Order: sequence, then structure tokens, then C-alpha cells
Amino acid sequence: MTGEKIESIATALVVGGGIGGMATAIALTERGVAVDLIDLDPDWRVYGAGITITGPTLRAYRHLGLTDRIKEQGAVTNRSRVRLFDGTLLRELEEPVIEEGLPATGGIMRPVLHRLMQERVRELAIPVRLGVTVNRLETAGEGVDVGFSDGASGRYDMVVGADSVYSAVRDLAFPHMEAAQPTGQGCWRISMRKPPELDMGEFYFGHEFPCGITICGPDSIYMWMLTPHQRREVHMNEAELFRQFKANLAPFGGNAGWIRDNMTPADWINYRPLAAALQPRPWSNGRVVLLGDAVHATTPHLASGAGMAVESAIVLAQELARTDNIDAALKAYEDRRFDRCRDVVETSVSIGKLQLEHGRPDQIAGLIEGALARLNQPF
Ligand SMILES: Cc1cc2nc3c(=O)[nH]c(=O)nc-3n(C[C@H](O)[C@H](O)[C@H](O)COP(=O)(O)OP(=O)(O)OC[C@H]3O[C@@H](n4cnc5c(N)ncnc54)[C@H](O)[C@@H]3O)c2cc1C
Repeated sequence: MTGEKIESIATALVVGGGIGGMATAIALTERGVAVDLIDLDPDWRVYGAGITITGPTLRAYRHLGLTDRIKEQGAVTNRSRVRLFDGTLLRELEEPVIEEGLPATGGIMRPVLHRLMQERVRELAIPVRLGVTVNRLETAGEGVDVGFSDGASGRYDMVVGADSVYSAVRDLAFPHMEAAQPTGQGCWRISMRKPPELDMGEFYFGHEFPCGITICGPDSIYMWMLTPHQRREVHMNEAELFRQFKANLAPFGGNAGWIRDNMTPADWINYRPLAAALQPRPWSNGRVVLLGDAVHATTPHLASGAGMAVESAIVLAQELARTDNIDAALKAYEDRRFDRCRDVVETSVSIGKLQLEHGRPDQIAGLIEGALARLNQPF
């Protein structure tokens, strides 16, 4: 990322080494801040799903210098197809290119994206400590005194909480904020080899279970499906999930039907009840600031949660570089991020509600297209 150096802070602790935390660590380090990154997971893994990388998300990754690596190791396209659930082709869409040289949309396997970001963290020699969280945060004078779960302590000019929906930083520094609320839908995902006929992403509508396929590499895809959440799924083992997902796909044709007929129990499969929360302002308390799902957890309806986290990391670094006044920088960060992230969370939740109520397809399509057009605007 090009840009001014940050003079307002010298050190920062980033809590959470996921998409938003790694993006923050990279963006701050590139502007001269000495960053420590911690993650609760001792193995620093991510689960085996794919992820849709929209045009705005690719644009955000370009600021981190990672878009070319994503293009090489994922898949990008400028087109997608809309089908009726039985496979009938409804429309082929030309996705808008929002910046010169940038593909319109794409996909990548999460473990591959995670590795690309980890490689950049290592190239920048950012110290990473794993299997650790924070259990004490005290803003004192010009910094934050931090207690770690392994008994260590430290002092930083700023602490960034990028530790996702069950954020420990949020619990410690923002106890008035509430956990994400269930939306009533669940998301099924499978990662597997690519159907031979599939040459672009596809969406399947006209059935109470909307689903879609994203290409994530030369021979890898993931498929998602949204269903009303029923408690029994969270107790299912992988074999039961496999059988149920296959059954859900029974009426589907086209490449969705191919997936049903060719999925195997060895493929990665997952069911997750959806939850969302937009936390109230302010998003910072003293020198502690929240970012990503910790402060704006969303559902996948606009495939934009990761993009929002990466954008937020870039904006935080930009605003810290713009002024010596940290309070002003944190307020400017929040001013630039709040409405955009609110749009993603509120529109995603509204789409899910309409799907549960069997809302009109044109109304749902209108909500999706409107929000994606707004997200294409510069951040
Ligand atoms: C079903 C589903 C599908 C989705 N699909 C898409 C998609 O296609 N495209 C898209 O852009 N977005 C998608 N999203 C949203 C996206 O995954 C998130 O918005 C994004 O990962 C948020 O990044 P984050 O850094 O805030 O959290 P994460 O990426 O979840 O990272 C959080 C990190 O914090 C660590 N951590 C957790 N607790 C602690 C703690 N107490 N202390 C220290 N570390 C901790 C975790 O180990 C993890 O490494 C989807 C979400 C869901 C639920």
C-alpha cells in the first residue's frame, strides 16, 4: 500500500489474525507502525470453505498488494449466470468492472486466501503469537496496558479488536454491546471439484432454498444454499449433513444438479446458523478500536463481510496517517465506515427476511443490485 507514514502511533496490538486482523496488521506495518498480532487458534487455521471475492473486495485487496496473488491462486470472472432452480437459464450478467485492470468478481478457497495473507504478514516480519487472547485492557495515559491469557503483559499505543463475532476485545472494552442475533436462516456450504460445464459463477432462484456456486480455482468450487434454520442441523454429524444437503438439492438441475449427483462424503461440508449485528457508535473506547465482524457481523447475502473488514483496515491506516490527533483519526475512521457497513448488514438481513417470507424475486433482486451498486462506489 502506498501512502503517508503514520506518526500518531508507534505500536499497535491487533487481536485476531483472520481477514480483518491480518489486513490491519499489513496496512499499519506498511505505514511504519510496529504491530504485534495475536490469534486464539494455536494452529492459525481457517475452515475449508470457499469465499466470494466481489469487485469491491478485490479493489480493497489491491491496496494491500494482494489482488494479483488472489487472481493467480483463485478464480476471477466478469460474468455470472442466473438460473431457475431446475437449471433453466434466466439471464447471463455482465458484472461491472469498477476499476481499470480489476476483474469484476471472483472466488478463492478460504485456506488459500488465509495462506496468501499469512505469507504477506511473514514477509513484513510482523511478530505473531498464537493460542493467546487478551484478558485485560486498560487505557492509561497515551496507551493501553494489556494482559494476555498466557500471563504476559504489554503496553501499546493502540489495540485493534478484529476477533470476530465473539470478540474478547469487545467484551472487555465495550461491555454495553450485544452479541450477534440469529436471523432465522442457516447456510449450507460444500467445497468440491468443479462441474465440467461450469465456466462462471451461478445463482439458482425460484425455490425456497436459494443457492449459488462460486469458482475458486482451476478445479475447485464452493456451493452455498440458504434454508430456514431448524435446530436439528446444528447437531448433525458430517454424514447426516451430507445426506440432508443432497436431499435439499433433489429438485435442482443444471450444475447444481451435477453437484448433487457427484458430491462425495470426502468433500468439505458445513452448516451454520446465520447471525448479524451492527454495533452502535462509538466503535472506539480510548485507544481501543473494533473492526470487522467484531463490530459489523453480517450474513452472506451480499458476499461482502470480508471486503468490509479489509476496507476498514485500509481506512483505519489512512486516517491514522492523516493526523497526529488519534481521537480525530478514530472518529474519521468510524465516520467513513459506519454507513457503508450498516448498509451491508441491514440490506443483508432484509434480504434474508424476505427470503424467509417468500418475498417477490424482483424485490429481492432489487435489494441485492442496489446494495452492490452502492458498494461499487469508492470507499
Ligand atoms: C456462511 C458465511 C459465508 C460467508 N461468505 C462470505 C463471502 O462469500 N464473501 C465475503 O466477503 N464474506 C463472507 N462472509 C463474511 C466473512 O467471512 C467475514 O465477514 C470475515 O471473515 C470477517 O473477518 P474478521 O477478520 O472480522 O473475522 P474472521 O475472519 O472470522 O477472523 C477472526 C479471527 O480472530 C480469531 N479470534 C477469535 N476470537 C479470538 C480471541 N478472543 N482472541 C484472539 N483471536 C481470536 C479467530 O481465530 C480468527 O482467526 C461469510 C460469512 C458467513 C457466516
